[in-house]
Amino acid sequence: MFEANQIVAETLSMLQAVAEAGMTTFELDRLAEELCLRRKARPAFKGYSGFPASLCVSLNEQVVHGIPSRKCKLRNGDILSIDFGVEYQGFFGDSAISFAIGQIDDQRQRLLQTTDEALTLAISQVQVGKRIVDISRAVQDHVEPRGFSVVRQFVGHGIGRSLHEGPEIPNYVSEGQSPRLQEGMVLAIEPMINLGTEKVKVLRDGWTVVTADKKCSAHFEHSVALTADGPLVLSNREQFMGRNK
Ligand code: MG
Ligand code: MG
Repeated sequence: MFEANQIVAETLSMLQAVAEAGMTTFELDRLAEELCLRRKARPAFKGYSGFPASLCVSLNEQVVHGIPSRKCKLRNGDILSIDFGVEYQGFFGDSAISFAIGQIDDQRQRLLQTTDEALTLAISQVQVGKRIVDISRAVQDHVEPRGFSVVRQFVGHGIGRSLHEGPEIPNYVSEGQSPRLQEGMVLAIEPMINLGTEKVKVLRDGWTVVTADKKCSAHFEHSVALTADGPLVLSNREQFMGRNK
């Protein structure tokens, strides 16, 4: 699972390094798929419930599951979220990042930073004896006091020999029993955080999730293994930092 997730991490790092105003989101999808195939992995989103591309590309008010398009060009001031998944030797990897194209205003910058911080805090809760709700609470308690909202309609998930496994990992505290975390679990933790309302809707393409008020959204995701020593971030991008620039 580390190897699968490192292919995802390498792909996201490469895309962040090359993404710039004028590129189409279709080009990003092509680059992701080519690197994935070179690494002998299979793009996991392509064909998943009929999803037509390898990469999910979500701009600005798009929250998740945006479809790459030849018609959609990146522009300065955009917030770009890219989510990528692969299957490698029977195991899955899944990770996402959001970043700015060119200059963005302070509020959008704070949205990106807060969402990234929320993921880091959530990962620190991946400890034997904790529960899923501790992950959820870490996100919610960081995000809401800063004036942003937590998407409720979509959640994180377990991952392994399938892309989406139990348990569900909400980014907000919900009622009821919450599963206890156990050594050996691998969790895809993915806060989706909005500038305005938490409410979202799905566009007529059947995939693209957008905020109901058209304000911006950010999304970060890591696949994290629970080891005896605590969380191990399988999709960490450390070894790819500074490359491709
Ligand atoms: Mg993902
Ligand atoms: Mg996921």
